[in-house]
Amino acid sequence: MKKLTRAPNLITAHHWVNVLVTAGIGCELHNRYLSGAMGEIPAEQCAPEIWILDDRDEVLATGILERARSGPATNARGWRCQQCGEPLEAQFTVCWQCGTERDPLNDE
Ligand SMILES: [Zn+2]
Repeated sequence: MKKLTRAPNLITAHHWVNVLVTAGIGCELHNRYLSGAMGEIPAEQCAPEIWILDDRDEVLATGILERARSGPATNARGWRCQQCGEPLEAQFTVCWQCGTERDPLNDE
């Protein structure tokens, strides 16, 4: 187990975990239940953290997140949630509104 990085917020953290799992890298989201305690402990310690299960995945995982951070490829298209109709950017694979996964077979 090794801490890979800290995410700015839960939505981003979930997105990164999703990206890593999709790439076959075992990882966990830590600190996610501490958000409610904001104000009692330093905000920095409440930030969600991405931990990888296998230290050897670090380089690969870092590279994947670099790409996730820098946004979608220029030809990536956004999509619309099948469930609630929320428009989403291409780099997201799960709707932040209702949690529905993108259906690659049913893209617009
Ligand atoms: Zn949705």
